[in-house]
Amino acid sequence: MKYVGAHVSAAGGADQAVQRAVDIGADAFALFTKNQRQWQGKPLTDKAIEDFKAACRKHGFKPEQILPHDSYLINLGHPETEGLTKSRAAFLDEMQRCEQLGLTLLNFHPGSHLNKISEGDCLKHIAESVNETLIHTKGVTAVIENTAGQGTNLGWRFEHLAEIIRHVDDKSRVGVCIDTCHAFAAGYDLRTTETTQATLDELGSVVGFEYLRGMHINDAKSAFASRVDRHHSLGQGNIGLPAFTAIMQDARISGIPLILETIEPEIWRDEISWLRAQASEAAPGR
Ligand SMILES: [Zn+2]
Ligand SMILES: [Zn+2]
Repeated sequence: MKYVGAHVSAAGGADQAVQRAVDIGADAFALFTKNQRQWQGKPLTDKAIEDFKAACRKHGFKPEQILPHDSYLINLGHPETEGLTKSRAAFLDEMQRCEQLGLTLLNFHPGSHLNKISEGDCLKHIAESVNETLIHTKGVTAVIENTAGQGTNLGWRFEHLAEIIRHVDDKSRVGVCIDTCHAFAAGYDLRTTETTQATLDELGSVVGFEYLRGMHINDAKSAFASRVDRHHSLGQGNIGLPAFTAIMQDARISGIPLILETIEPEIWRDEISWLRAQASEAAPGR
């Protein structure tokens, strides 16, 4: 079973995100639980929390179908104490918002070394940030998203994700989310069924499918191995449709949200039904 949806707006309250997911025929969704471009969010009111939970119950969304995304400002690998402390406080707040909403996953971008510390030290900062946050929260898994490797962002190699996981103490509460556009821009080929399967094999051997908690399903405007992060609608970019068919038919990917972050919300409904149709054409044994 694969859950398919999109990163929908939570304008007007988190419960509105549920309704927007329903409106596009999704059985998964992503959302920001606060403004993603600000450090501080208004605390969630009891009413906002209850409205969200009620909407999820009404429409049959379980926590494993929902993949909240943290703020873009947070850098859990920050080379300097002040930036690191600020990021860790904001990440803890994001985790606690998820706890309050009854959510069990939080998707985040690992972090950037800003050319001030080594990759290895930055990856350790990220893992320590996760450790510190997990101690102060319950029930929410930190889900590391692979990146395109723009600038000094780490997490573009599967090895980076594995290295962070290696330093996280509670392995039951750390996972990964693979963004297809980011992977492609980082140099993981997805242009054919065969290369997609090979990339997934590599993910399995370097990280392990037991850590896969979600995927972002995006075509890429950016070129292969360009380290540039530009999403596109499915089939309109440099990845092309076979990758998405292969993903929908891959039995190793199961029970997790597959989230569109493609650039035309008007066609999300069509993209979701196209993806579902690919799954139903799965060959036996795959
Ligand atoms: Zn992201
Ligand atoms: Zn993404």
